[in-house]
Amino acid sequence: MHISKLPKLSESIFSTMSALANKHNAINLSQGFPNFKTSEKLQQLVTEAMQKGYNQYAPMRGDLELREVIAHKIFKSYQTKYDATNEITITAGATEALFNAITAFVHKDDEVIIFKPAFDSYEPVVRLNGGVPIFIQLNYPNYKVNWEEVADKISTKTRMIIINTPLNPTGTLFDKSDMLALQNIIKNTDIIVISDEVYEHMTYDGLTHQSACKYPILKEQSFVIASFGKTFHNTGWKMGYAAAPKHLMDEFVKVHEFNVFSINTPYQKAFAIFIQDENNYNYLNQFYQNKRDLFLKGIENSNFSYTPCKGTYFQLLKYNKITEENDVEFAKRLVKEFKIATIPISVFNTNQLDEKVLRFCFAKTDETIHKATEILCQIH
Ligand code: PMP
Ligand code: GLN
Repeated sequence: MHISKLPKLSESIFSTMSALANKHNAINLSQGFPNFKTSEKLQQLVTEAMQKGYNQYAPMRGDLELREVIAHKIFKSYQTKYDATNEITITAGATEALFNAITAFVHKDDEVIIFKPAFDSYEPVVRLNGGVPIFIQLNYPNYKVNWEEVADKISTKTRMIIINTPLNPTGTLFDKSDMLALQNIIKNTDIIVISDEVYEHMTYDGLTHQSACKYPILKEQSFVIASFGKTFHNTGWKMGYAAAPKHLMDEFVKVHEFNVFSINTPYQKAFAIFIQDENNYNYLNQFYQNKRDLFLKGIENSNFSYTPCKGTYFQLLKYNKITEENDVEFAKRLVKEFKIATIPISVFNTNQLDEKVLRFCFAKTDETIHKATEILCQIH
């Protein structure tokens, strides 16, 4: 018998590539985080909250004013109401919210549908709970879901479906027809949907984010999960939240309570003020679209090929015209020889499917993007 509950799990690719980038003094477009500053105003609000004495435990579900501000923000964005008292919980990043939602509902042998390539934290948490991940592989470049295939994978053991839109690492979005197809599949079942929407404010070319909460039946059976780290350029603060109907949230908080109990107080106080002003986030679509376009313009004459991403702050590039190396080897060579760090997509795929695609994070200063694209144009 294994002592380890996750015997096959190795170090996260994000840690590996960021460490390699540091070691080789490379431009780090691997792990997804901005290299520019979070708002001065927000930093000032945190400092003020500390100075005013907000330094003891927050309420278990989070500062009520912050939860009310979030409920209002969701209403403005998606025209649907959550009750701040019972239906929103502040978490230590989206990561904690994902952990809680999966742990609260997945029993031994329950099946959880996960689309691949997938963000790396879903599968281990399902396994920790004795659940069985059922993978559905999507393919470059459009990563379209075949909902008939999903319907075929539903069994009496299906407990949960995890979706992520805008999707990391592919940069694709679910559209209205995807959400309606999903809603149709879960209607009249007790399947729970986890909708990981941490990139909700990063959609491009006029496309809009389709939150699960916009679809009434879907909303009744879903957790919507968000990350302040992504939206407000401070991934190191590890703040986020989950929103769900009361009957689901009541179970979620049973895990949250004994996982962290509550999240740091002064940051919640600061966000409660900062998020009230929608100008602090409604510029993001254009802001990141400009960065995506700068990145794509810079590599126009390179040997990489691409489809412009529709959301997230990641752009995939296909390199099959450059080399036949597998993506992990190529990514490692790029750090060492060209001083640029990326994420190979195969690590997120079923059976390490290698489609010769790398992920580049463009949440970087324009100067960094210029330097990175100059390097990419020299790779033949
Ligand atoms: N989900 C996705 C799709 C992500 O890319 C990330 C990484 N930011 C997370 C969840 C975790 O978010 P957080 O840093 O707020 O824990
Ligand atoms: N979400 C980030 C990414 O996709 C990384 C998060 C992490 O390092 N765990 O790059």
